[in-house]
Amino acid sequence: MSAIQIPSELIDLRDSVKSFIEREIVPIEAKYAQELQETGTIANAEEEKKKIRKRSAELGFYTLHMSEELGGGGLSYLGQILVHEEVSRSGSLLARRGSVLASVEGPTPILAPCTPEQRQRYLDPLMRAEKEMCFALTEPGAGSDATQIKTKAEQKNGSFIISGTKHFITHGAEADFCVVFAVTDPEKRARGGITAFFVDKGTPGFEVARIQRTASTVDRPAELVFDNVEVPAENMLGEFGNGFYAAMGWINGGRLHIAASALGIAQHLLDKMVEYAKTRVAFGHPIGKNQYVQGMVVDSWCELESARSFVYEMASRIDDGADGRREAAAAKLVATEMVGRVADRAIQVYGGNGFMTEMMIEPYWREVRAMRLYEGTSEILRTNIAKTLGL
Ligand SMILES: Cc1cc2nc3c(=O)[nH]c(=O)nc-3n(C[C@H](O)[C@H](O)[C@H](O)COP(=O)(O)OP(=O)(O)OC[C@H]3O[C@@H](n4cnc5c(N)ncnc54)[C@H](O)[C@@H]3O)c2cc1C
Repeated sequence: MSAIQIPSELIDLRDSVKSFIEREIVPIEAKYAQELQETGTIANAEEEKKKIRKRSAELGFYTLHMSEELGGGGLSYLGQILVHEEVSRSGSLLARRGSVLASVEGPTPILAPCTPEQRQRYLDPLMRAEKEMCFALTEPGAGSDATQIKTKAEQKNGSFIISGTKHFITHGAEADFCVVFAVTDPEKRARGGITAFFVDKGTPGFEVARIQRTASTVDRPAELVFDNVEVPAENMLGEFGNGFYAAMGWINGGRLHIAASALGIAQHLLDKMVEYAKTRVAFGHPIGKNQYVQGMVVDSWCELESARSFVYEMASRIDDGADGRREAAAAKLVATEMVGRVADRAIQVYGGNGFMTEMMIEPYWREVRAMRLYEGTSEILRTNIAKTLGL
């Protein structure tokens, strides 16, 4: 329980997300129970999620994080935390990650500077979950230090010619279009020399080179190649040279969403640990009667509760006007490090069963590992926080 007072309308909203999942998603997922148990995933997940996204968009959940001017719910950061946590807590694979709530495939406040034509072509279809996007910044030679990207865009006869390679791009293979960040002035780089462009799937020279296999079955990022891809000047997103600021414009929101998902997953795993510790018998009594097992459960409970209070507090501070650099970085750092420890303990409490995919514990352990990497590694987050402390 956090010291933060959660307004009753946010509790109601969280409850309506919960009942949407129970009413409309759990029955769909039940059809895949056997596959899920055997493989830890659902091969048809993307197709099912597409339908869920549309339904969620109709109900207004999918665009809660977008401003009201853009047709979204204008939800506070604290509210966004609550709904993201609820979705992850559900333990439903089909409800999570770009399904009930938007993730990288969906509408993002980065698109706020869209022109009226771009809004019609890209943003509005995203809001209705009729199109999907990907966010292409990272490159083989530039990850944490994204200012060093090499992909370039050169002006030619009123168009831009984009060349370069992006990798680790979530939803890169499935997206209808990409928002690609390219260098337009190598001298200025992050300070006015990087520009964002819309690139549609099927544009000559733009190719999904390969899907990149990862430790987790739910992460299937792609390598994207841009070989002299010509896009009209109307495809520029926002101001020329302003792309890096635009890319960082939603970083706090993205980090808070990951922090909230970490809380939800940790709660789901804690619930499972408690249940298992009560029912699994060894040496004639439930394993939860052993203090070593109790320690793993109790440490997880304590760490989750304190991370939750911290994340809620950080989100509230941003709602109250903090610029969010320190708060969002700290929320993601604390929650994602916590969920890593909880997932590891969950395997230990389950013993050998925890390592077997069919118990649906180990897929989380693999999945949450990546949370300490994307949207700022734990080290970069610490560096960001240190800067705000004057170091
Ligand atoms: C599953 C997944 C999905 C992703 N999806 C996307 C996506 O959709 N779009 C996109 O653009 N990118 C995406 N990424 C890329 C992600 O943002 C980068 O992986 C991340 O920024 C880290 O960059 P890197 O992997 O190149 O690591 P590097 O930058 O090479 O870092 C390697 C190590 O050095 C450390 N390090 C680097 N610099 C410092 C420093 N100054 N101080 C201390 N330590 C430092 C890092 O913390 C890390 O431990 C995704 C990554 C993953 C794993």
